[in-house]
Amino acid sequence: MLDCIFCKILNNELTCSKVFESDQILAFNDIDPKAPVHIIVIPKKHISNINDLNESDRKLMGDLIFSAKIIAEKINVKESGFRCIFNTNNDGGQTVFHIHMHLLAGRELSWPPG
Ligand code: 5GP
Ligand code: ZN
Repeated sequence: MLDCIFCKILNNELTCSKVFESDQILAFNDIDPKAPVHIIVIPKKHISNINDLNESDRKLMGDLIFSAKIIAEKINVKESGFRCIFNTNNDGGQTVFHIHMHLLAGRELSWPPG
């Protein structure tokens, strides 16, 4: 997608601080972190958000969520805890329309979110 910031990161047109990569998934540090750990996890396939998922994306999205376990172990927040979020459309606070999971950690996160 031409105007998609995350596709530009995938195409190396924009740089990122990479945390994890597999054949179908990339994770990198958020440019404007909301917690001491704030990682963005994306599929390499462009999908706008949860609303645009197809049946054929089930395995991909399962792998994406599973990558949170791998990343949490790698950066040592597995026991202290972390939060995974998918913002969707306006009320969900989505600003980048390439589906992504936020992985937040490193402090006690309040609930409910604002
Ligand atoms: P959303 O608001 O769509 O759920 O989350 C988008 C996230 O992407 C935000 O937390 C924002 O800080 C992050 N972000 C936006 N542009 C860039 C960028 O160019 N590089 C990185 N690493 N993160 C970005
Ligand atoms: Zn994209």
